[in-house]
Amino acid sequence: MHQTDEIIRLLQWHKSAGVDVCLSETCENRFLENTGFNDVKKKHPPAQNITDSETTSRQTPNISQAPNISRDQTVNQTQAANHSTATAAIEANSNDAPQKAQTLAQSAKTLEELKVLMENFDGCALKERATQLVFGSGNPKAKIMFIGKAPSNDEDVLGTPFSGKSGILLDAMLRSISLERAEVFLSNIIPWRPPGNRAPAPQEIVACLPFLIRQIELIKPEFIIAMGDIATKALMGNELSVLKLDGELNDIKTGEHKSKIIATLHPQFLLQQPAQKRRAWRDLCNLQRALND
Ligand code: URA
Repeated sequence: MHQTDEIIRLLQWHKSAGVDVCLSETCENRFLENTGFNDVKKKHPPAQNITDSETTSRQTPNISQAPNISRDQTVNQTQAANHSTATAAIEANSNDAPQKAQTLAQSAKTLEELKVLMENFDGCALKERATQLVFGSGNPKAKIMFIGKAPSNDEDVLGTPFSGKSGILLDAMLRSISLERAEVFLSNIIPWRPPGNRAPAPQEIVACLPFLIRQIELIKPEFIIAMGDIATKALMGNELSVLKLDGELNDIKTGEHKSKIIATLHPQFLLQQPAQKRRAWRDLCNLQRALND
């Protein structure tokens, strides 16, 4: 095979695995480094006081599919040009990012102030590759807050959570229990699109979580609906999954705010596995019953 074809295949493989930015001219094994993440997690336990023993599950590309190509062949002029920006982004996602985010978030007295602070926050490298911040949207006095994981392409372009296919399904789910999008508040654990729509990394989650917690404190919802495992684990602790919680209503303290939480399936997952809509429907009925109590 021609060398250029091989390089293109390698780049395509990386892109499909969510690697669409050059971070360094040489490969580094980050698993061998002490990233300090465990220290950060100890200082910033999940919103509820539950032991955080597992790591967030992430989609791992199939390494055996990677074309066999030497490191030197992957380095090119464009990568070198991107290098300083990308390195700055990595450095920005430093170990003190969660503390900085916490201090900033707590200083916000309104959602508008919080949005401006987030736009100016440089502690999460995802910002470098995203088109814009996707701040929460909906009724700022909502009784119910729906929380997903992170913006995808549509949200990245439009700047509003759940504005793509999963948003259309979410709207239908809301209508099925007589709710409109404008009555609730929609937000995400991460406000910037991860490259290639990959799952957010644990470091990115801890760096962004203080902003979501502040949103919750300012909105003061009676009910939080965590959609999917990433939102559920970020809010409730890594040992709890949507399947384990099985639609039950739980108490949660998020920052200073106490509310009830239900973990349900993510609309994106329901689009792939429509048979699971039955389970989501049951969870929504639990919410409706709790609202009427
Ligand atoms: N998936 C999410 O988790 N959030 C969005 O805003 C869109 C898709």
